[in-house]
Amino acid sequence: YSPERIRNFSIIAHVDHGKSTLADRLLELTGTIKRGHGQPQYLDKLQVERERGITVKAQTATMFHKCNHNGSNTNDVDKAPTFLLNLIDTPGHVDFSYEVSRSLAACQGALLVVDAVQGVQAQTVANFYLAFESNLAIIPVINKIDQPTADPDRVKAQLKSMFDLEPSECLLTSAKTGLGLEQVLPSVIDRIPHPPGNTSSPLRMLLLDSYYDEYKGVICHVAIVDGMLCKGDKISSAATGYTYEVADVGIMHPELTPTGVLLTGQVGYIVSGMRSTKEARVGDTLHHNRFSVEPLPGFKPARHMVFSGLYPADGSDFEALNHAIERLTCNDASVSVTKESSSALGLGFRCGFLGLLHMDVFHQRLEQEHGAHVISTVPTVPYIFEYSDGSKVQVQNPAIWEPTVLATIIFPSEYVGPVITLCSERRGQQLEYSFMDSQRAFMKYRLPLREIVVDFYNELKSITSGYASFDYEDSDYQESDLVKLDILLNGQAVDAMSTIVHKLKAQRVGRELVDKLKKFIDRQMFEITIQAAIGTKVIARETISAMRKNVLAKCYGGDVTRKKKLLEKQKEGKKRMKRIGSVDIPQEAFHELLKVS
Ligand code: GDP
Ligand code: MG
Repeated sequence: YSPERIRNFSIIAHVDHGKSTLADRLLELTGTIKRGHGQPQYLDKLQVERERGITVKAQTATMFHKCNHNGSNTNDVDKAPTFLLNLIDTPGHVDFSYEVSRSLAACQGALLVVDAVQGVQAQTVANFYLAFESNLAIIPVINKIDQPTADPDRVKAQLKSMFDLEPSECLLTSAKTGLGLEQVLPSVIDRIPHPPGNTSSPLRMLLLDSYYDEYKGVICHVAIVDGMLCKGDKISSAATGYTYEVADVGIMHPELTPTGVLLTGQVGYIVSGMRSTKEARVGDTLHHNRFSVEPLPGFKPARHMVFSGLYPADGSDFEALNHAIERLTCNDASVSVTKESSSALGLGFRCGFLGLLHMDVFHQRLEQEHGAHVISTVPTVPYIFEYSDGSKVQVQNPAIWEPTVLATIIFPSEYVGPVITLCSERRGQQLEYSFMDSQRAFMKYRLPLREIVVDFYNELKSITSGYASFDYEDSDYQESDLVKLDILLNGQAVDAMSTIVHKLKAQRVGRELVDKLKKFIDRQMFEITIQAAIGTKVIARETISAMRKNVLAKCYGGDVTRKKKLLEKQKEGKKRMKRIGSVDIPQEAFHELLKVS
């Protein structure tokens, strides 16, 4: 395949607008997967993805399609040339825009899928700009036109007014019924440029992704930018200087299919005896070890926005958790991990995530895919402390700089009031307020990150009956009046529960935290006091009175096996408890604290 016969494209969309379904249809249409066989959303392989209906990891598949050069489908199958199409599915959620920009680096074009009922949403805007800034050819696809309330003309008008995309360029499809799908691949071939690489230059390939496979070891997804790669070639990493021999090379069709060679413009996989995915640096340039080449521009490194401590629910499981986290970060290099110890929770890890959903998904994958039981601490954002200058160590009123984000919110105009109220409660500053059309409002806010990591999106959804969409990008730090709020159990501060809040909110948040804890901590053999304090000043307090009788002793006298069973069961329950000082705290308590802001 010469590069002229290759197209590399991505599908980008707001969550639920149908990109995974469209990907399925294209895979079926080209015979890459069988129609009606296997599960829907073929490329969503992870259990979390299936459960949550979101795409987390970008996946790639190669398809073959016969088509004329001018992009028209042909009945004269024999004469038409076959094109090699690499489809790269991307996650739609804001937290994973790092994955999106990675996928786009290997593409020359993108299908921008927009739901014909919902129209342009916040992540449509974010994804459009990611593609636009990467100079990709963008094909607007208005999907779900089978829906009775579909209004493609309105969506066309939005695409024109927001992105200057011409109505005549829009494809109308239903990934569900198959309507209009026949235009998609011809448009890809016709409107998306072929990969620009040089076939006769020395090999340069971009490392797009890597994961660990039980049998084969580290598998890297790569895009061949220049030159060609054969099985048995010796390659080097521009980043580390390490040299490898390529043991296997091929395409994802959609499973790993050895081809022995990858040519300029192709996207595929390699197995090269890397020992750990840490050696496979995403964004790295790999080249033949006998040539030195100019490295390709890498990716913007992931920026961690939300941090949380992860501790084994049962203290002795530290090594198991360590192992689970190592395995999982092999597949998600965007998480940062450092060891930390907490006087309350013992040895654990401080992990940095791209956002809240990312944190949730990581947590869920630890439990589901690696069987770890984890307690996570209240998420924090990366503050900067600026100590007032002057005499010695004396630190008075340390100014705290907190990170902010630029948020895009799109919602039906009747909800303007509540949205403004919510944003100002969250200390937002309005930057832009306009209407996309007669029914849709568009707002831009600068918001402290701290204020959105905790339950902002859920609340936004609930005040707009589910209609608002939200996206953010990180912005500058701003000086803020923040205080550290401690939680004390029987007078002892629990480091894992302390949080930083705005001065004006401290009272309310302290009260809520104390009330929540009271609800979740069971009565124990002694009295427990729960306090919220700023420095030495207690701002909220509750007590849980002591339990009077030993429940176990009273209820279960005789049957030994029955008693044993019950004790086993209790032990199971205990795994999810954490003893702090002498107080047992259930895992839910930690989770519930996350929701207070
Ligand atoms: P993604 O989040 O963009 O990958 O969206 P999915 O492909 O997972 O689709 C979200 C939901 O919309 C699923 O329940 C699909 O079955 C449904 N869906 C996708 N395309 C269409 C369509 O053309 N028409 C209708 N009615 N539903 C669709
Ligand atoms: Mg999807």
